Amino acid sequence: MQVENFINGRFRAAQSGDTFVKLEPATGEALAAVAASSQSDVDSAVAAAKVAFETVWRRTSAAQRGLKLLHLADLLARDAETFVSVLSREQGRPEMEMRMMDLPMSVDTLRYFAGWADKLEGRTIPTAGSMGRATLNYTELEPVGVVAQIIPWNAPLMIGIWKLAPALAAGCTVVIKPSEDAPVALTHLMRLVAEAGIPEGVVNVVNGIGPTTGRALCTHPDVAKVSFTGSTEVGRAIARDMAGSFKPLTLELGGKAAQILLADADVPRAIDGLLLGLFANQGQTCAAGSRILVHASIANAVAAQLAAATDSIVVGRPQEAHVRMGALINARHRARVAEYIERGHQDGARLISGGRQVPDGGFFVCPTLFVHEDPNSTLAREEVFGPVGVVIPFEDESEAVRIANSTRYGLSTSLWTQDVGKAHRLAREIDVGSVAVNCWSPLDARLAWGGRRDSGTGFDLSRHAVMAHLQEKSITISL
Ligand code: NAD
Repeated sequence: MQVENFINGRFRAAQSGDTFVKLEPATGEALAAVAASSQSDVDSAVAAAKVAFETVWRRTSAAQRGLKLLHLADLLARDAETFVSVLSREQGRPEMEMRMMDLPMSVDTLRYFAGWADKLEGRTIPTAGSMGRATLNYTELEPVGVVAQIIPWNAPLMIGIWKLAPALAAGCTVVIKPSEDAPVALTHLMRLVAEAGIPEGVVNVVNGIGPTTGRALCTHPDVAKVSFTGSTEVGRAIARDMAGSFKPLTLELGGKAAQILLADADVPRAIDGLLLGLFANQGQTCAAGSRILVHASIANAVAAQLAAATDSIVVGRPQEAHVRMGALINARHRARVAEYIERGHQDGARLISGGRQVPDGGFFVCPTLFVHEDPNSTLAREEVFGPVGVVIPFEDESEAVRIANSTRYGLSTSLWTQDVGKAHRLAREIDVGSVAVNCWSPLDARLAWGGRRDSGTGFDLSRHAVMAHLQEKSITISL
């Protein structure tokens, strides 16, 4: 399979002809030869986006922009099964997860932001006037221009659409840089972008390696805004590269979510939620609830139930219907996760589930669960981004809040209790962007998604995402 760039409405190889190989996580075999773009490809894509912004998209009526997004949503819904299969192969994730989560949310996100396109209104503002005369003062919301969108591999289509939809609704044009580990589905989406009649140059894709292609895109002088989702380290490097440019930057970075189980929690209901929070997408989610804080009075019983449930998770080829956990994204990442498991043993954590045989050939890791009293261990503080969790007992609510707030991340937390007063009280004390009570971080286009501290700045989704692509202009007319 060849994965090319999509520039000015046409698929094309990198100008140098260079490619790199993307492997299939569940087999370890070559899946695609992907364009390895250089500065000249980035220049072509940004130039196409700039012309399309100036001459076409910002001048397209807001209602028309909304209709194009609705059309794209319908096409994606039509081709959902194709995308389920493509995503599952490129990510090694069970098809069931794509069917339940990534595809419906991608379609819904396009429709949600389509609705925003013609509801972006300015204001009229009363003032004392100017130079002795009354004035009419009003504002207009203008799109910022060409937006660089840098996408991670863990949910490429869904996160790609989280960024694409609000930008297009606002009247911006975009250049997308997919992850080198997940370029297939997002590039494939460009066929639907063309079919939906979105004009040439409005949406462009340049594939390539992060520190070369991604960096060239983020630092391009004609890019007006960068929207990045990925690791905290790369987010920090991009922020450094852009320092002094004064361009707006959205950074959706890493996480280390706590899942807090109070003594009065509905445990049977919580077990399902805790496992989903911990193991969805093989634990490769920014919201992965890999710190399970359990009140000491129920910690042993909860740990035993979690261990039994983890033991029964079937790991295998993502296309098989009974499989609940697929492969990690690549061999390097599998080795990194294996090091964290080893580190858990060295730090004296007690293994309660793990070590089972996994299939040969792909980048599989057995789901692994430890118990450790120390809330400051490496496993309890660092983002593993794999199917590895640690159960940490706590004595009272203030200790739970202190542990939950003790990492450098501040993305999301879930909380399990039957006492509504406690839920509200603790939700206020936890320093993260999203708190979920009696469920695991429900992602929805209408809810803002963004982190604090080392989890980033700005938001994807909700009205905030569309506003982040607009700038307000004040206009004063002397009457
Ligand atoms: P990554 O930071 O390695 O890569 C992300 C993207 O950045 C890729 O497209 C990569 O090619 C590009 N890139 C790398 N170096 C670059 C540079 N110098 N300049 C510009 N672009 C560059 O992250 P990843 O491994 O793809 O994704 C996993 C990380 O993403 C985890 O930390 C996870 O928590 C985070 N994440 C966060 C959210 C969120 O919403 N907060 C969502 C998903 C994933």
